[in-house]
Amino acid sequence: MSTPNRDAKSTISNFTHYPDDAGYFDEFGGQFVPEILRPALEELQAAFSKLKQDDAFNRTLREELTHYVGRPTPLYFAANLTRHFGRARIYLKREDLAHTGAHKINNTIGQILLARAMGKRRIIAETGAGQHGVATATVAAKYGLECTIYMGEEDMERQYPNVQRMRMLGATVVGVTSGTRTLKDATNEALRDWLTNVDTTHYIIGSVVGPHPFPALVRHFQKIIGEEAREQIQHQAGKLPDYLVACVGGGSNAIGLFYPFLNDDVQMIGVEAGGIGTGPLQHAATLTYGRPGVFHGMRTYLLQTADGQVQLPYSISAGLDYPGVGPEHSLLKKSGRVQYLAVSDAEALDAAFLLTRLEGIIPALESAHALAYLPKLLPHTTEAEIVIVNLSGRGDKDMQTYIQHMEKEQQNK
Ligand SMILES: *Cc1c(COP(=O)(O)O)cnc(C)c1O
Repeated sequence: MSTPNRDAKSTISNFTHYPDDAGYFDEFGGQFVPEILRPALEELQAAFSKLKQDDAFNRTLREELTHYVGRPTPLYFAANLTRHFGRARIYLKREDLAHTGAHKINNTIGQILLARAMGKRRIIAETGAGQHGVATATVAAKYGLECTIYMGEEDMERQYPNVQRMRMLGATVVGVTSGTRTLKDATNEALRDWLTNVDTTHYIIGSVVGPHPFPALVRHFQKIIGEEAREQIQHQAGKLPDYLVACVGGGSNAIGLFYPFLNDDVQMIGVEAGGIGTGPLQHAATLTYGRPGVFHGMRTYLLQTADGQVQLPYSISAGLDYPGVGPEHSLLKKSGRVQYLAVSDAEALDAAFLLTRLEGIIPALESAHALAYLPKLLPHTTEAEIVIVNLSGRGDKDMQTYIQHMEKEQQNK
């Protein structure tokens, strides 16, 4: 699985018209929710369909992306990294330079504008690592909306600095004590809250997952990544890229980069978290090792046990530690349009240090998974080719893990 798929051309057809009216990407997606939530999803779909064509809404969104988020983010030619491998030219899409340090803000700013336009006064979200919680609390502070974030108590302990950030931003962080006290349980609590308070409350989902219309809606706000990259690479290199590489947790940074190129002759690779192995609790590589099932309101690839229970994922990177994946990625896998594979914790760590030492950029551990595919891809490329890697976030939040790794290296010397 380490060699790139050479016939992207044969698999290009029109993938950009999905989802259909019922929210399906072929057999994936849909709306697997209690009846009582349907009106809220229909209201959201109606508002989204109307507002995405509304000039005033789009003008406000564009201004916020420019002056608050800091877009367009640079497309950076990584000359040292390119020299290191000695083949295709490597460019990095610098989502790490967006406000709050990752691509997640593209989505939360879009959704809070939507919530405001729908007259909602209150925002809820669930968070695992805390990155989506911080991006949500950030826009809630800016727009003066009440904000409640659900987080498993286990995750609260592991990600305490992000809990403090959310509280400083004025959000109420509710610790969830049920089940495994992680993201899965926090999501259930957030859904329960939404069921009770749907008149006043908008639920900001953090990736291209959940029931329709969330996968389409989050993609809409993240596709700015690929739209910018498409323009930037043509301006800077005079041609389209040959390869796009992005990490896949729920899949929002990946679809954000891929979507505007789906009908082009460009090969795409989604990199999942291979963790430390292939057994239970050892990885989070949903598309690589999972099979279709129903989870979080959608039909999609899912990590599950033989009897259909959701299998707890594991990754060194908290942002990739999710047992499902966006339904659009399930379609792109099934069709062969995008190739999905997994890299290990150790490979991601090596890639993070390589980028840091060569380019002076400390990447998020999630983004390091995308970078870890370069040693496998580059030997198959030529100097005339171009690779764009989505640098989805910066590594400040991962310093504890990086420090431990350096200490271990020291001891082994
Ligand atoms: C949350 C996160 C991810 C994973 O989420 P996707 O929806 O798959 O993009 C990747 N990178 C960073 C920096 C994140 O914070």
